[in-house]
Amino acid sequence: MNVLKLINRYNYCAIFAAYFFILYFNKGLYTKKEYCEKILDNVNIFNLTDLKLIYFLYFTLNAFVLNFIKFATTAVIRYFNPSIFLDKKNYNKQIKNVNIHILLLSFIETFMFQLTVNGYTKVHLEPNSLYLFLHDAVLWIVGFEMTLYLEHRIMHDNYYIWKYIHSYHHKANKRENLLGITLFYVNHFEVFFTMSSAYVLTILFPINYYNKVAISLIYLILTFLSHWEMFPYKYHIIHHKNLMYNFGANVPIFDILFNTYRYNIKN
Ligand SMILES: [Zn+2]
Ligand SMILES: [Zn+2]
Repeated sequence: MNVLKLINRYNYCAIFAAYFFILYFNKGLYTKKEYCEKILDNVNIFNLTDLKLIYFLYFTLNAFVLNFIKFATTAVIRYFNPSIFLDKKNYNKQIKNVNIHILLLSFIETFMFQLTVNGYTKVHLEPNSLYLFLHDAVLWIVGFEMTLYLEHRIMHDNYYIWKYIHSYHHKANKRENLLGITLFYVNHFEVFFTMSSAYVLTILFPINYYNKVAISLIYLILTFLSHWEMFPYKYHIIHHKNLMYNFGANVPIFDILFNTYRYNIKN
């Protein structure tokens, strides 16, 4: 049996092992105290003195940005494809669920921010450069795709997790109910599963604070658009049409490695 076949059969073990190695080799890279203070300062735009209020401000800022991206992507999709929004009942059902999850995600991100400010993540403020940005982007994308692939595969492979959690998201599989916001149309428990993948990455790799913000926002916009059938890049739409393939978010690294990649609906 060749190595790739073996890794494919035990893909969970392979990804867990990768986590272990990454955490082991990066163990000495936690956020320096001077960076913790600077990061907190950067967020504290109103010069508040109460730490709880600063965290609340961070939470509000997050919810605002997520809502802004939600409105902007919906406006773009509605402009090109107004007919998919005609079913008001479907839209209202999705948007109610999505709004709850925007709040939950802002909570999770605020918790991760508290970890950073207390020095428990690997976020840093080393001088930025194009090289560092590309370096951070590659590590962030590999780390995110690895985390998401692992969680997503488990949600499809385990009968109970599929039945009670992830099948909820897959109710949306027709052109008229893939509205972009469908990205966040999930069971509440899933928010803590796949949806939080982006937030835990700062524990894996060192990353510049600003690069982390920029890369995760670009990725988020892309993932919103990937829940729209007219979007030219069909990677995730294929997953909604055929549940056996394409478990990653936007870049099929682990689907190729574990032989679950399909690049068009028919093949
Ligand atoms: Zn799925
Ligand atoms: Zn989806």
